[in-house]
Amino acid sequence: MAAKRHLTRGLRFRLTAGYALLFALLLIGIATLFRQRLAYTLDSEAHDILDQEWYALKGYLRIERAPIKGRAPLHAPPVWHYVWEFDKNDPDEAFIVERLRRIYLLTDATGNVMEVSTIYQALGIDPPREIQAALRSGQPLWKVRRTTHGAPYLIRAGVVYAAAGDEGHHHPFYVAIGRPMEESEKILKSQTWIYAGLIPFSLLCGCVLGWLLTGRALLPVTEVARAAQAISGSNLSLRIPTRAVGDELDYLIETFNRMIERLESSFQQIRQFSTDVSHELRTPITAIRGQLEVALFTAKTVEQYRDAVLNSLQDIERLSQIVRALLLLSQAESGQLALQKSRLDLASVVRDIVEQFQIPAEGARVELSADLPPECPADMDRVQIERMLSNLLSNSMKFTPAGGQVHVALRCLPETIEIEVADTGCGIPQEHIPHIFERFYRVPTQETCANPEPGLGLGLSFVAWIAKAHGGTIQVDSAPGRGSRFTVSLPAPVAAPAPVEAEPIPTVLG
Ligand code: ADP
Repeated sequence: MAAKRHLTRGLRFRLTAGYALLFALLLIGIATLFRQRLAYTLDSEAHDILDQEWYALKGYLRIERAPIKGRAPLHAPPVWHYVWEFDKNDPDEAFIVERLRRIYLLTDATGNVMEVSTIYQALGIDPPREIQAALRSGQPLWKVRRTTHGAPYLIRAGVVYAAAGDEGHHHPFYVAIGRPMEESEKILKSQTWIYAGLIPFSLLCGCVLGWLLTGRALLPVTEVARAAQAISGSNLSLRIPTRAVGDELDYLIETFNRMIERLESSFQQIRQFSTDVSHELRTPITAIRGQLEVALFTAKTVEQYRDAVLNSLQDIERLSQIVRALLLLSQAESGQLALQKSRLDLASVVRDIVEQFQIPAEGARVELSADLPPECPADMDRVQIERMLSNLLSNSMKFTPAGGQVHVALRCLPETIEIEVADTGCGIPQEHIPHIFERFYRVPTQETCANPEPGLGLGLSFVAWIAKAHGGTIQVDSAPGRGSRFTVSLPAPVAAPAPVEAEPIPTVLG
């Protein structure tokens, strides 16, 4: 049953959400940067203009001591008056001075207002403390003031000195001018609103587009999943069609198809194996049943009963051989049968086995010879190596007619150890060679063979496993009528000796 799929856990959702988040952060970042840049530009522009205007105003303004009209008290404070020096007949100059004085304040050193424009008055007269501090520092003073309606103004204030009087002292005066900042604020605000509208809109568009695009990109994955669902144990011949684009998905599909191919061949092997096992077990069982039935209905003497029981026992022995061999093979292939390696002299092991086969070879009139080095140290499982040699030798004896030859050779090379069993027997047709290591596989018709007794078809499966378990390989060179040569290549031992020989495992015939 297909697992329930959560939308928020899906690749499509996560990809879209991830990109949307990244996109949002990027947009907000860029918008903030642009807004700050704009604010800075507007601000510095206003400062520059106001600074220039302040100096222009200073150029037109002249403050001097006014003559005291009438009788003034003896220690009366000096009276100052200011003069705007510009060409009164020039309308342009008059306009400039008028414009500069639109937002304008002039006070003496104590903060007494000498002249103030209406707009500046609305902003509020600077407190005397602030004026005195500005005059003391002599530095330009910048501030932002707001009207009661909240309209912002940038103010630039500074010191202007009166023309030197009789005592030769330059008296300081406080002059401040302003500039409306409402326009800049409006520009900034409208920019913010544009971003506030544009960012969610582009995010929404991005999400929709991302959702559609990821859906489109992931469509083949859904198709692959659908195709994979159609493949089951009974129709493993199906394959997921590749799109011939050569992308990651095609690679995944190819890998998947290769996996199904391997699965199919494993399924096939298992099916074949079940058929073979049932067939192998059925033959002796049918034979036993037949013999016992015949004995039951037709046997009259003890001798006849005895023959039937003996024949049945032989078949039972064959049955138990098959079962034992199968059990051992499955243990070997599932890794439950560990090798018991020890340092041994392979030359003497091979010599012993060849000697064991000498008497049967003489009986079959087959010439058995061996070419062995004086000694060949190896780290191997003695029992398994003996089993491998016995299986190869008994096959060669079985499939070599009288008058033929069987030759065993052992080559102890620096890197590898080669065991070769060659015969001049009936040989194996080329098309059967790849299958002879499969369980229960027997070459169907070996016409040139002297009708050898049927084996279990399990011997070479053992040989293949033993070679592989020792890290070696096996090679077959055979042709019908010419004979066969089985060469097992095993890795030579490393310098350090292997652990001491352990308990042998029970021997099973192939
Ligand atoms: P079996 O018990 O039948 O010998 P094996 O697994 O040992 O089973 O061998 C599988 C088949 O390979 C044999 O049945 C036989 O057809 C073929 N075969 C193995 N060794 C030889 C050989 N030396 N010469 C010819 N055929 C061989």
